[in-house]
Amino acid sequence: MNVIETVRELQTTAMKIKAEGKTIGMVPTMGALHEGHLSLIRRARAENDVVFVSIFVNPVQFNNADDLRKYPRTLERDLELIGDDADYVFAPTVEEVFPVSPTEVYDFGPVSQVMEGAARPGHFNGVGVIVRRLLEWVRPDKAYFGEKDYQQIAVVREMVLQCNILSEIVPCPIVREPNGLAMSSRNRRLSPAEFEISANIHRILEASKILPDVLQIKTFVEDEIAKIPEFKLDYFEVADANSLQTVKTLQEAEGVMGFITVYVGEVRLIDNIRYK
Ligand code: AMP
Repeated sequence: MNVIETVRELQTTAMKIKAEGKTIGMVPTMGALHEGHLSLIRRARAENDVVFVSIFVNPVQFNNADDLRKYPRTLERDLELIGDDADYVFAPTVEEVFPVSPTEVYDFGPVSQVMEGAARPGHFNGVGVIVRRLLEWVRPDKAYFGEKDYQQIAVVREMVLQCNILSEIVPCPIVREPNGLAMSSRNRRLSPAEFEISANIHRILEASKILPDVLQIKTFVEDEIAKIPEFKLDYFEVADANSLQTVKTLQEAEGVMGFITVYVGEVRLIDNIRYK
């Protein structure tokens, strides 16, 4: 596996590979890799001739300076974990990606305005800024994203549509810890006790699946989260799996999912579950 640090080398390398008629799979990440990321990389490996992974903590998508500062950065270990599962790892500096501060302002429509979009102003604009650049630089046949950030996939799909990007966006299932907690780079900021307690997020969502209607699901999840003193609920929404707009009944949309964000101490964890 080769490490690329400049945009020029990234572009020329990808262009050469395309000229040889090979397919490219790309996995954008912010590093501090875990099995969730590795599942995307292995899927890309299985479905493409050549695999690119990017490792870049994108400052533009952080709406909280403290969160950006505390975001784990473990490049050496990340490269070891990737090993031969990828052919190229793009690990640039902030100045390389943003020689001048980006000024793009997108409107990704309703999917970007609810939940994470409402809770983190500017976040999805920043996601659009970096993902667009990465996809235009590499022009992968397929780009892989995890369903842990389900809303992000909807936003990326909208961006790809608006910007005429031809890459196929491939959603990948959530990888969990043995205790059920969705794997996340932020989990390493949890104390061992918090890590165990955080397993209740998935447990509660799973338990809510037997309930017959949206009101009962919402009440149950909110009450169960409130019972755990370490948790502070940011939001729990039951929404249409396509439009991401909240639903009042399970019948009104083809797919319905629950989306949750919980603070455990200072750490903000997100998860989701499919009801139908
Ligand atoms: P991040 O480094 O957090 O920006 O994540 C990079 C990619 O990995 C995103 O597409 C995430 O949705 C995906 N990802 C992160 N955690 C998981 C997980 N537990 N299971 C599956 N995909 C994940």
